[in-house]
Amino acid sequence: MIYQECFNQGKLALESAGIPEAALDARLLLEHICGTSRNDLLVHGDREVAVEQEEAYKEAIRQRAERIPLQHITGQQEFMGLTFQVNENVLIPRQDTEILVEEVLPHLTSGVRILDMCTGSGCILISLLHYSMWAEGTGVDLSAKALEVARENAGRLLSKERIVSFVESDLFEKVEGKYDVIVSNPPYIQTEVIKGLMPEVRDHEPMMALDGTEDGLYFYRRIVEESKEFLRKEGRLFFEIGYDQAEAVKGLMENAGFSDVTVVKDFAGLDRVVHGYLA
Ligand code: GLN
Repeated sequence: MIYQECFNQGKLALESAGIPEAALDARLLLEHICGTSRNDLLVHGDREVAVEQEEAYKEAIRQRAERIPLQHITGQQEFMGLTFQVNENVLIPRQDTEILVEEVLPHLTSGVRILDMCTGSGCILISLLHYSMWAEGTGVDLSAKALEVARENAGRLLSKERIVSFVESDLFEKVEGKYDVIVSNPPYIQTEVIKGLMPEVRDHEPMMALDGTEDGLYFYRRIVEESKEFLRKEGRLFFEIGYDQAEAVKGLMENAGFSDVTVVKDFAGLDRVVHGYLA
């Protein structure tokens, strides 16, 4: 079958399955399998696709039609210009989270120690280390399977000299030492809200990476309180938050003694990051 025809059939199959952005996903899957780029559909649509690739594409389309996230089929997601490996054991890195990374970056002077609480794929910590010269970092997660993914990403994306470690721990339980920056994108969705999410998220992403308990604030409460023992003087705590959690999280931080607590909006104009320092 020719390339254009493969794409047409893939797109049609995804459309009939009711997949949003069917054309985009059909193209990205085809490019992933054939090792091609957007240009190929525009100018090489009449080239023959090898039978094995055609079969692999059909299988990928079948999976996507079942609402398996695109990133679980390709096994990867771009974040901060880097390609992260992902699987069903980690949250797929979201573009919104890039705001969090951008907010932390200016605070990374030479020798800074960063702790990434609930590191998942490691996307936050690894991006911070990649884009700063001399920072060192620790990623923490409760899930050993998530840490496997984070370690693999760190090994591939960071130079061997970088000081980075990963700790399997229930929040701060096994954490040692003091840090200049603690950053976290914890699970923050209210349990009730999870049911109404897209099937890709609700049925395929790790529940433990989403569920912030009844009011969505469980992890913020614990991290705000427990981080104090692990922050150096003038250390800063950075959170990603849900669009309606800014006041609550700001309040938690102020009550715990954090100063200069600041809310930052994302490109959609929604509250997305809260940070403050401990005097
Ligand atoms: N820190 C990871 C991310 O931002 C995982 C977050 C999570 O599991 N809630 O993608």
